[in-house]
Amino acid sequence: MSIEDVLPEAGQDGPLYAALTQLDDAAELIGLAPAIHQKLRKPKRVIAVSIPTLMDDGSHQVFTGYRAQHSMERGPCKGGLRYHPDVNLEEVIAGAMWMTWKCAVVNIPYGGAKGGVICNPKEMSQGELERMTRRFTSELVEVIGPEKDIPAPELYTDAQTMAWIMDTYSMQKGYSVPAVVTGKPTVLGGSLGREAATGRGCVFAIREAMCRLGLPLTGATFAVQGFGNVGRWVARLLEPLGLKLVAATDSQGGCLNPDGISVEALVEHKVQSGTVVGLPGTDRITNKELLALECDVLVPAALENVIHQGNAGDVRAKMIAEGANGPTTPAAQEILNDKGIFVIPDILANAGGVTVSYFEWVQGLQAYFWTEEEVNERLEAIMVRAFEEVYAESQARNVDMRAAAMAVAVGRVAEAQRMRGIYP
Ligand code: GLU
Repeated sequence: MSIEDVLPEAGQDGPLYAALTQLDDAAELIGLAPAIHQKLRKPKRVIAVSIPTLMDDGSHQVFTGYRAQHSMERGPCKGGLRYHPDVNLEEVIAGAMWMTWKCAVVNIPYGGAKGGVICNPKEMSQGELERMTRRFTSELVEVIGPEKDIPAPELYTDAQTMAWIMDTYSMQKGYSVPAVVTGKPTVLGGSLGREAATGRGCVFAIREAMCRLGLPLTGATFAVQGFGNVGRWVARLLEPLGLKLVAATDSQGGCLNPDGISVEALVEHKVQSGTVVGLPGTDRITNKELLALECDVLVPAALENVIHQGNAGDVRAKMIAEGANGPTTPAAQEILNDKGIFVIPDILANAGGVTVSYFEWVQGLQAYFWTEEEVNERLEAIMVRAFEEVYAESQARNVDMRAAAMAVAVGRVAEAQRMRGIYP
């Protein structure tokens, strides 16, 4: 039995299919050595665990959790942990692969990982979530760690989740190990600016792209799919640059006002009612309608594969900034290219989160903490440099920004692998 036998099939139009297609395209573009290409098509390690959890009614439920570690060529594995009913191994492996490229494209010293638990966090109490998280951490205790693999927040996990992981890991080791996770509360060694970082990084990328394309910021319109951490911060930080939010959606639907929506009013409404739907003074729209809206910048900041062959032709935005991981399928990317829509790919557009995770890890290891201004300045410097490098690559090779970002990222990983050699 080989690792092939336990790995999932890359279903057509699924996230793993997209991740592998992007890698194969990059391999061809940069002339990647076949041995390194073959190695990078597979995760280094995949862990599946059972997580028996005491529920509030006294019963036990056994959840399934995964952690995939794609590569360690450039440093320890790094990546988020998501809690969602649709979590599956295919998505987790694709996510780990994307983290490898994301860390490489912004040139921070990590490989990629991703994890998840199949559960519905919206229906679980804090106590149930805590017990599930602690047991999951115990099951992973030998494979995570500051030098091995460092989890972080993702879909439906947050600073509290990271605090439970850090505490459980530390109790098992017998001493405090804050650097085992990032995205922690600041009282436990979290970095200032981490919560806003993914959105802030995305806004830096959008600003750079609009400058390159000669699109004025003032009065430009944008629409956001997903109003969780990333979508909210993108909206909050684009507004002061002079851009106007015209629509936002979440899993329940969305709201539209072509004259502009106040971001703070929408955040407040979402906090109060649990959804962006029904903000006074707005009309209701669907997720499908949002993707087809005429606007300058469209920010998909929710799930994978939302822009696909079936709807890419409807997109009327001038630019897409991928706040989410893997929102555009390879077939959709081709359609968007034909329409001349500029796509800032996920591994660049949403790399601000892992960049500030890196700052958090560095600060934690040194036990020396930076001001929020320092964090934001260093984030800006990294995002601007990465954007410039990818843009220059896209011009030099005459390819879209995703192909360029992949060429830069895969090139860096391949160079590290070449210098290290393949053991033994
Ligand atoms: N989950 C985030 C991402 O996909 C952050 C990962 C991290 O900070 O390690 O980039």
